[in-house]
Parts: sequence; structure tokens; C-alpha cells
Amino acid sequence: MSHVTRHSSLSPCPAFIDGEWREISGVEKTPVYNPSRGEIIAEVPACTKEHVDQAVESAAAAFPKWRDTPPVERARLFFRYRQIVEDNFDKICETVSREHGKTLAESRGSTYRGIENIEYACSVPTLLMGDTLENLARGVDCETILQPLGVCVGITPFNFPAMVPMWMFPLALACGNTFVLKPSEKVPLTALLIIELLEKAGLPKGVLNLVPGGRECVDALLTHPKVKALSFVGSSPVAKHVYETGTRHGKRVQANGGAKNYIVVMPDADVKRTVDALSTAAFGCAGERCMAGSTAIAVGKAAERVLPALIEAARAIKVGPTDVATAQPDMGPVITAQHRDRVFSLVESGSKEGAKIIADGRGVKISDAPNGFFMGATIVDQVQDEMTIAREEVFGPVLNVMRMDDLDHAIEAANKSAYGNGAAIFTNSGKAAREFKNRVKAGMVGINIGVPATMAMFPFTGWDESFYGDLHIQGKEGVQFYTQQKVVSTRWFAEGVGDVWKK
Ligand code: NAD
Repeated sequence: MSHVTRHSSLSPCPAFIDGEWREISGVEKTPVYNPSRGEIIAEVPACTKEHVDQAVESAAAAFPKWRDTPPVERARLFFRYRQIVEDNFDKICETVSREHGKTLAESRGSTYRGIENIEYACSVPTLLMGDTLENLARGVDCETILQPLGVCVGITPFNFPAMVPMWMFPLALACGNTFVLKPSEKVPLTALLIIELLEKAGLPKGVLNLVPGGRECVDALLTHPKVKALSFVGSSPVAKHVYETGTRHGKRVQANGGAKNYIVVMPDADVKRTVDALSTAAFGCAGERCMAGSTAIAVGKAAERVLPALIEAARAIKVGPTDVATAQPDMGPVITAQHRDRVFSLVESGSKEGAKIIADGRGVKISDAPNGFFMGATIVDQVQDEMTIAREEVFGPVLNVMRMDDLDHAIEAANKSAYGNGAAIFTNSGKAAREFKNRVKAGMVGINIGVPATMAMFPFTGWDESFYGDLHIQGKEGVQFYTQQKVVSTRWFAEGVGDVWKK
């Protein structure tokens, strides 16, 4: 049992509505932890339908003027924002590590993935260019123009407090929409900071609003008549709920869900590189990534080649508090005590159902942070696909190992998953890699790359229960999601004009 304390001064957690920071009182509050210490550092107000209504109304009122702001001027907001984010980079990363528990190196890496989305949004004047065809029919010209939708919404998860919001609002705003952000109630402080920085870059009043809260806010956003589109990232059951409810209310929805990603290791794979990549994929960010490599499928003799070094690597991972300037650990805590207990019980279920725990991080104790939500790197071998731990998303520092005789069986095992986010193969065989790339049922594939998460210019292409919608987040699909096309056909009746030219 963890002992919970309160920090002597709690960080404020206001809403940002109509260009004003508003303290929200008279509502329920939920605690935000520093998971490295097991200490409450803030309390998030559970904003209500009324607050959501004010935020959406403000965004709707700001839309006509923002829509008519030329794309080059909208892009300039993001050129300024990029610089301000860079100037405050350390502060953002420290906030991410403090409220989420990632190491500073992991916070820096993921925040940079966010910055790349701001950079992508800076190219919006080019991204918004349509097509034209002169003389589509005699005397008729045709063009497509991309126009913004109106009020768009972002609902984000706890595991990437800076990056995931940055997947959404820079591109949505650059395309000419206005926005309401509902960050995870577990990590609101980073979202507040990055929006404060957007305000410093010159955000006009009402163009972006932030409402802290949980389920009530989400449900009010899903059904609000003035919301046109919703971007969601989180677990699959909530993604499905958001997709079904949002679309039923006539909204465009892109909803990223959970994952269970398989990494196939062929017998010819380079041992050292594969072990390094597997260890990073499984234990990086304490396994709390939708692109975490959660199951290694060892083909043939790959298990005996790779497992001894992998066990050694897992045991060598130094776990500890991440809210320190120096002596950073290799891995931080998981998000809450309840989440850690759930991961423990999934590992236990694996053991009860016949799997073998060959590296066990459940006993980890950190003397200088005794109340943190820690767990060490854990490897569960001989996992079979009907086991609970094989089917459920664990979202902790746990790597399952399955063993298969050949590539066909490995692909078949990976393809049984209900999810379809990422999959990877480690091999020196072009033939095996090609076969895997073609047949594996996942939207993002790595060949000798353990975490094939896509960067800003490519869409984040989850499949099956990892994604509900049509147009994915990021890249050109992101631009399509945040705009609607208009096709204009033009004919001018200018009698005699042709005669003038003939002279
Ligand atoms: P979550 O689904 O619990 O919460 C996500 C958001 O939904 C939060 O803002 C939360 O307030 C809201 N929410 C939670 N329950 C709700 C409900 N019943 N009704 C309405 N809204 C609700 O997810 P999480 O625990 O914050 O994040 C981890 C999950 O996110 C994992 O499953 C992970 O795989 C997934 N994830 C997916 C991607 C991706 O791109 N596919 C990226 C990051 C995280």
C-alpha cells in the first residue's frame, strides 16, 4: 500500500475560457500525483456541461474572424509558438516528468515529437492548396478549395502530456478551426503550460479554450451541437464510445485506441541490436506507450539466442524518481498506485495460467522514494494466446514472450490480436521482412525498428480496435480531417472577349 501525502503548495488548475484563466470552484476535484513520490501535487476540477458550453460558445464566436485570417498569418502564430516552446523546453519536460513519471530523456524525446507537429502546422499555406483544372469542359474551369470546419475538440490521454495535445491543436488551428482541449485529468499541468505559451505567442481570444475535467466534460463535448469534429486518443473502450456517440451526433471523429504490439524476432536477427531495441520498446516510458512492444515472438532458435541477454538487460534497468535534475534513472514509475496494482495482477494471472516469470520487477523498492508507484522491468515467458496477459493491454513495464516454429505461425499469432496499432520484425532476411510487411495486420510496421511510431508528416495509422474513424491524426490525413473540400466549377459569359484576344 502506498502512503499518499499532499505537496505543501498545490499547483493551480484553472480552465482557459474566452481568453481568461478561470479558477473553477464548487465542483468535485480529483488528485494529480507526482508518481515518483506518491504525492498529490494538484487537484483537477471536474468541469461541468456548463463550463463546456461556455468554452464551445467562445470557440464558435471566435471562428468567423479566425477562419478569415489568412493562412500565412495563422502559420506565423505557430512560427512564434515553436520558438516559445523551444525557449521553455526544459520547463515543459520537467512538468511532464513530474506529473507523468517519464524520465527527462523520455520527456524530451516525446516533447520533440510534439514540436514537429507545430513545425508541420507552419507549412499550412502549402498544405491548404487545392487542385485546379482549366477548361474542364469548354469554357469551364474547376478548382478544389479546403475550408475549416468550425469548432474542433481534442480529448487526450495521460501517457503523453505534451505530445498528444500537440498532435491536434496546432494543425486544427492552422487550418482555420477553433478548438476546445480537454486534457487527461491525470496530467493537466503540462497542458496548462503549453496553452499558456500559446497565449504568449499571440493566440486571439476564444480561438483555443481548455476545460479540465473527466467524463462529464467529454460527454458534453460529444453531444454539443456546435462541435464539428473530435480528435480522441485513449483506451479502446472510450475511443469506441467517443466514436459512436460523436458520429451519432453528426460529428467527424478520429479516435485512437489502445494496443498490443508484437515484435517478431527471427533466428538470424542481430542479437545485440535486437536486445537493445526490445528492451527500449518494452520498458521505455515504463511500458506506458500505445506503441510499446508488449509481446516478443521468438521464432525457432531466436529465443535461446536473445533471451539470456534480454533478461540481463531487464535486470540492469535502474528504476527511480524522475523529478530530479541529476542522476536520472533508466525508468520511472507508472502513473498511479491503482495502475501498478492492475499490472501486478495481470503478471500474476500469467503465472497462474501457466506462463513463466523470468524477470520479476514486482519487488522493486526505492529507498529515497518509498511512496512512488514503481515497478521494475518484467519478462513473462511461454505466454499462450488464450491467456489474459496475452489478450489485455498491460500498459506497464512487462514484456510477454511467445515462441513459434516459423514466420507463418508468428504472423498468425500477431494477427489474432483485436488491436492493430504497431508490429515489428527483427531479421537480416529481406524475404522475411517483405513477407511480414505484406501480411501483418497492423497500421504501423517496423523493420529492425522496435517502436515504429510515425512522425508529424505521416499519419498515425492504427487499425482495428486501435482506431475508430476514417482519417487518422497527423500528416496529410490530419489536414483532410480538419478541413472540408469545396469543388468550384466556373463559367464566365463574356461575349466578345474571345474576339478581343483574336485581334
Ligand atoms: P482513457 O481512455 O482512460 O482516457 C482518455 C481520455 O478519455 C481522458 O481525457 C479521460 O478523461 C477520458 N475518459 C476516460 N474515461 C471516460 C469515459 N468513460 N467517458 C468519457 N471520457 C472518458 O486513457 P488513458 O488511461 O488516459 O490513456 C492510456 C490509453 O491510451 C492506453 O489504452 C493507450 O494505448 C492509449 N493511447 C493510444 C494512443 C494511440 O495513438 N493509439 C496514444 C496514446 C495512448
